[in-house]
Amino acid sequence: MKDQTMTLTRRTLLAGTVALGAAATAGASPPRKRAYRRIATEEGFLSPGVLAQNNKTHIPGVPFIVDGGPGGGIGRVLTDLDAGRIAAMDADGIDMQLLLLASPGVQIFERATAVALAAESNDYVAAACKRHPTRLAALAAVAPQDPAAAAKELERATRTLGLKGAVINSHTFDHYLDEKQFWPIFEAAEALDLPIYIHPREPATGMREIMSGPVAGGPAWAYGVEVGTHVLKLISAGVFDHFPKLRIVVGHMGEALPFWLPRIDNRYVAMRAGMFGGAKPMQRLPSDYIRENLWVTTSGMNYWPQLRMTLDVLGRDRVMYATDYPFEKQAEAVGFVEAMPLSESDKKALFEDVAARVFKI
Ligand code: MN
Repeated sequence: MKDQTMTLTRRTLLAGTVALGAAATAGASPPRKRAYRRIATEEGFLSPGVLAQNNKTHIPGVPFIVDGGPGGGIGRVLTDLDAGRIAAMDADGIDMQLLLLASPGVQIFERATAVALAAESNDYVAAACKRHPTRLAALAAVAPQDPAAAAKELERATRTLGLKGAVINSHTFDHYLDEKQFWPIFEAAEALDLPIYIHPREPATGMREIMSGPVAGGPAWAYGVEVGTHVLKLISAGVFDHFPKLRIVVGHMGEALPFWLPRIDNRYVAMRAGMFGGAKPMQRLPSDYIRENLWVTTSGMNYWPQLRMTLDVLGRDRVMYATDYPFEKQAEAVGFVEAMPLSESDKKALFEDVAARVFKI
């Protein structure tokens, strides 16, 4: 048993690399028609307005998004919603990208600027989706700095512009969405039946000071732990008791939540029983909300033991494919999933069906 596991793990670790060529070939000239579209659900872009403002704004802890260098660097890749992006998708075998304004989005700007740039970004990406309706879809950027304006923009961007939900890059000036001041955004999302994607950014001040350095800080650990914590804060605050139909999406194979699920329930129940002086009871177990209000994507986690466990824990109706383009490699991520021991029907769910349902694509 141990040997089998080790063999599978080693094979899995190699799978991304081994399958890279196969995926590229499949994208360029498919050996046979696939029974599913490959929809990638956490793909980055920037509007020109947000890129320009990013370059004027100090982002604490992360000199992350700058247009940098001759030719425009990553900024040029992120603002390209036409030929370059479509060519990369063709080459790597991605049929459709669901676009998210790259982290930290408008959430590092002062209120009026953030509100204006959310609209600018939504107009920019909506126009691209109209030019490439079979290749691009997008989530709306909103500015939690002004919750009422964010709720209004969510309605405009989805009803008028055709976007598919909202992305919020975790905290806004150290404030998390469990605070009631932000609940008008949830109210709008639930009323419009739209998902909210909570995407990582550098953690809030106190957490960032502790989770620092090349391994404990940044995307290696801190980003995921911070978003997982954000979801648990929503549960603790009773957000899903108040908005039972609210749909939250997180990337990176669930930001560690599937792995922790039994312990979260177990310790919550113990606390409720008074072990730590009691905790305000929610209506249900934490895992109930995670299984019913949360969807996850694979972004940046090309590792079979994690995918297998996440599918086991949450079920295949909760798990969607994502690359995290252009920060991660599309061909590698596609090759990883295609090489895994999943049935055609499971692959269709992962690549297409769940995303089509959740985002109404
Ligand atoms: Mn991402």
